This record gives sequence, C-alpha cells and structure tokens, in this order.
Amino acid sequence: MSKLGLAGVRIYGVAALTAVAALLLGLVLLQSSARSQDAFNWVKHTQEVIINLDGVESRLSQAESRLRGYLMSRDTSYLAGFSGDLIEADAFVARLGALVLDNPAQKARAARLTRLTAEKSRVMARAAHRMQLSAPDSLPDAAERRRGRLLMTAVMREVSAMRNAERRLLALRTSEAQTEVREVRALLLYGLPLLALLIGGIAWLIRTSISKPLADLLDVVTRFGTGDRAARASTVGRSAEFRRLAAAYNDMADHLVRAIDTQDARQHSNQLLSEMAQRLQAIQHDGELAEVLECFMPQLLADVAGAVYVHNHSRNMLLRVACWGNPETTPEMFPPDHCWGLRRGQSHVVANPGADLACVHAARSSIERRCEPLLAGGEVLGLIYVEGALIEENGFRLGVLMKNVALALVNDNLRSRLREQSIRDPLTTLFNRRYMEEALALETSRAERNGTPLSIVMCDVDHFKRFNDGHGHEAGDLLLAAVAALIQTHFRQGDVVCRYGGEEFTVIAPGASAILIHQRAEALRLAVREMTVEHHGRRLGPVTMSFGIDTWSAVGDRPLQTLLGEADRALFRAKRHGRDRVEFAAEAQPLETTRQDSSTSASLARTA
Ligand code: GH3
Ligand code: MG
Ligand code: MG
Repeated sequence: MSKLGLAGVRIYGVAALTAVAALLLGLVLLQSSARSQDAFNWVKHTQEVIINLDGVESRLSQAESRLRGYLMSRDTSYLAGFSGDLIEADAFVARLGALVLDNPAQKARAARLTRLTAEKSRVMARAAHRMQLSAPDSLPDAAERRRGRLLMTAVMREVSAMRNAERRLLALRTSEAQTEVREVRALLLYGLPLLALLIGGIAWLIRTSISKPLADLLDVVTRFGTGDRAARASTVGRSAEFRRLAAAYNDMADHLVRAIDTQDARQHSNQLLSEMAQRLQAIQHDGELAEVLECFMPQLLADVAGAVYVHNHSRNMLLRVACWGNPETTPEMFPPDHCWGLRRGQSHVVANPGADLACVHAARSSIERRCEPLLAGGEVLGLIYVEGALIEENGFRLGVLMKNVALALVNDNLRSRLREQSIRDPLTTLFNRRYMEEALALETSRAERNGTPLSIVMCDVDHFKRFNDGHGHEAGDLLLAAVAALIQTHFRQGDVVCRYGGEEFTVIAPGASAILIHQRAEALRLAVREMTVEHHGRRLGPVTMSFGIDTWSAVGDRPLQTLLGEADRALFRAKRHGRDRVEFAAEAQPLETTRQDSSTSASLARTA
C-alpha cells in the first residue's frame, strides 16, 4: 500500500472489479449460448423422434393398405413395395430406439413399439404369404385379421403416446430456454451499464487522482521555471501520493528560493565590498578612511550597530574613526587592554550578559556584543565593534570587511611612514627643507587671507665647524639632534620647526607677533647657551646660536614672499654683529625689544 499509494489502490480495485464483472458477464453469455445450442439440439431431436414415429406409423399403414388392396383385387401389383415398407418401418423403429435412449420412459415406450411393430410386420407378412398360396377367392383368417387390427391400434397408441411425450418435453424445454433468454437479457440490461459505469469510474479516478493533479503540478513547475518564485503546489484535496509529491516539490522550491536569495545577497555583498575596497585603496589621508567607513558600514551591516577603531601607536589608544547604527556604547577612545578581543588577538563575542567576560569599552547589555580585532603581522591595527546578532550573510560581510579595513590601515600606516620619511630629516626628526617650503607657502597664503601675523625664525649654530673639527662628526650629529629637540620645546604645537640644512634651522610661527616670537627666540638662545651633550662619557658644549627674525603683519603693504629672505638677512647680520644674538629684519622690529633684552642687535635698538 505504501508503495502503491491510495490512488493506485483505488484504480487497481476498480479495474479488478471491472474485470470480474466483464468476466462474469462473459461467462453468463457463454453459458446462455451453450443452453441455446442445447435447446436447438432438443428441438431437432424432438423433430427427429416425431419424423421416425411418423415414419413407423406411415410405413405400417401403407403396408396394411397394400395388403388390403391385394386382398380385394388379388392384383399382385399391390404388393409391390410391401416388403420395402416393412423394412423401412423396422428401420424407423430402430432409429427411434437409439434416439430415446436418454429418456427412460420414452425408451420403454420405444421398446414396446419395437415389439409391436415387429409383431405387426410378422402378422402382415404371414397374411400376405398365405393369400399368395391360397385360392384367389378364399377369405383370410378372421382371428388373424382381428389380431392385425389390434396390433395396429396398439402401434398407433404407442406412437401417439411417444409423440405427446416428445411434444410435452419440447414445450418444457422451450419455456426453459425462453426463461433463460429473459434472464440473460435482464443481466445484459443491468450488467452492461454497470460495466460502463465501472470503466467510467476508472477513467474518473485516473483523471482526478493522476491527470488533474499532474497537470496542476506541471503548471506550477512551469510557472516556477519561468520566474514565478511564489508558485507552490496545492497540498489540499489530493491523493496522499500527490500530497506527498506536492509537499516535496514545495520543499524543493523553498530550498531553491532560499539558495537564490542567498546567491543574490552574496552578489550584492560582493559588489558593495568591492566598491568599498576600491575606495579604501584610494584613500589619501585619515579623514577619508572615516568617510569611506561611515558611508559603507551602514549599508554593509544595516541590521546591527557598531564602530570602527584605529590603533594610535604613539598614544597606545584605540581611537574611534567611524560609527554606524547608533550603538549603545562607543567611547571615543580606550586603551587596548580594555578589550578582550585585542588582549587575546581574536574575535570576542558576548551573546548575552554573563555568557562571557564583557569588555570595559562595551557596557553590559542584553544585546550581543562582538569585538573583531584588526591585526597584521601580530601588530594591532584597530578594532571593529558590533552590537547585535549577525545573520549568516552579515557574518560573511564582516569577515571580508575586516580584511579590507585591515589592509587599508596597513596601507595607511605605510603611507604615513613614507610620507614622514619624505618630509622629515632623519637625524633630527624635524621637518626637512622641502616640507618647510610647502608649509611656508600654505601659511603665507593663510596669513594673507585671515590677516593674521606670520613670523619666521632662521637660526644657525655658531662656529659649528669648529665644534665638528674639535669633537668629531658624530659628536656634531649628537649636538644637532639635541639643538633640534630644544628648538621644538620653545615653540607652540602649530609652529613648524624645520632643519633648513646643515646646522641651520627655520621656524614658521603662524599667528605669532614680533614681540612674542622675539621672546621665544631669546628664551631659546639662552637655553642653547646652557645646553651640553654627553658623548663617549665626555660632556661637550655649550654652544651658541644666532637668530634672524622677520614678522609679517596685515598693517602695511609689504609682500609676504620676502619673509624668509629677510629673516636670513637678519641672521647674517646677527653673525656679523658678533653671533649669539637675535636680529630682526628692518621692517619687523618689535618696539619693546630693547627693554626686554640688552643683547638684541644694534639695529633693533636703533629703530626702537
Ligand atoms: P658660523 O658661525 O659662521 O655659522 O660658522 P660655522 O662653522 O658654523 O659655519 P660653516 O658654514 O663654516 O660650517 C658649517 C659646518 O657644519 C660645516 C659642516 O661640516 C657642518 N655640518 C653641516 N651638516 C652637518 C651634519 O649633518 N653633521 C655634522 N656633524 N656636521 C655638519
Ligand atoms: Mg654655523
Ligand atoms: Mg651655517
């Protein structure tokens, strides 16, 4: 049953019923035809019996008539055919005996008729013989004639009895045959429609249980094949097999739709990730990294919230560069040891509070928290922090994202290192002359635009050649590095301190007035005088430095481009006037300078 299914069982059941009905009907028809044949045979048999009875009767009557004619006329021609009649009567009676063997009553009558016929023939034959021998006018024996008459009557009685019996039998058999015909007709009348009904039932069963559901299923499959993703087979009102088939097809269709959706989502993910990767690769400065992340993170991980942190090596802090989806906790910065992911160097997921150790930077909450450290060569580059559970596709996206962002950070580090190298002097780590020129161009135009003052300091170690010659080049390098560090501490963070070349330095101080820059240069000059360096256990120095300053202010109409040259000329003057001093360019002398420092150049004092 489980193999065949309910529809199959029904169809086979009805087909078997139909076959049995057809077989029965056939059998009945076969039987009825056999009975008809029987009836026909009986009619024929009865006819034969009657023909033979008539034959016996007619031959005996004919022989008697011939004998009587001869007796009356003594004409021998009457006796012609007499013996033939007797022989024929004998033959008829013999055939009769054979015909009624199956019917005991008729058989007994036939036996009696045979005896009577034989006796009658013998009596007539004897009478004929005696008449032929006797005188022509002698009369036949009266007793014999009487006996002959009695015998003939007896023969006719038997013949008539037999004929009547046969006719009764014929009537009975005819009536039986008629009943049979009526029954067969009735059977056919009800049987054939029943058979037709059964065949119709099979056709209906095939249609309802196979053809129709099959056509419906085919229609659904075709619709699905031509892009209708919602096409599903009905599982109601069908046979169990088709319900199973429809359910199996629906499962397969669901599976396919899910696979297609996943594929679509993956395609979309790949496209977004590739676009983001292209932009990450083209980043030129830190601000752009934040821009790219803030644009793409909400698209890539729309269902969750989070932030991207970048590791700042000099401060050993993770700084937030981007954030999306309004996360619950996003400190602007935190040290690496506040994150279990960074401490262990692997992904740290806290699905619910208490499931695992919560990071200090992520507040306790019922939402899932995930820290994905961004590492390269064992070095911490940053962290992707996610709030909320990730669906499978987002897991894939996050995996690729981590690689892309890590690569961007590696590139960014590399780029800033290269940039540092190209703009910094390796000995002093100050900006080099090339950078100074760029910065100067930027600051002059800014000063012009904003109308803020701009000061330039040119300074040079006095008699450095002598120092080099006396203590060696290595000691000279050490001193240059120490002087550079000292200069940096005497100016503001926004001021650009550069190594102009050799033992010469330049400071660009945007916004610094002549008075302020003079104070700073003086302070530096005094600090240099105090400074010594230790080289191979010997304390070397101190040395002195000379300074040339020029300050541009919005008052007046002197061009900004002459600043550097004027400062250099002031430095030259400082050298000429005895070194270890601060000289101002002619147009930029602060009024208070003479009061503040006695060592300021003569030209300054003159102007004051
Ligand atoms: P002045 O007071 O006129 O500036 O005299 P000076 O000796 O300092 O100036 P000069 O230009 O005659 O000599 C500068 C010396 O600085 C010559 C050069 O060997 C030395 N020098 C330049 N660059 C470096 C450097 O990177 N390291 C060392 N050790 N010496 C350098
Ligand atoms: Mg010098
Ligand atoms: Mg010099």
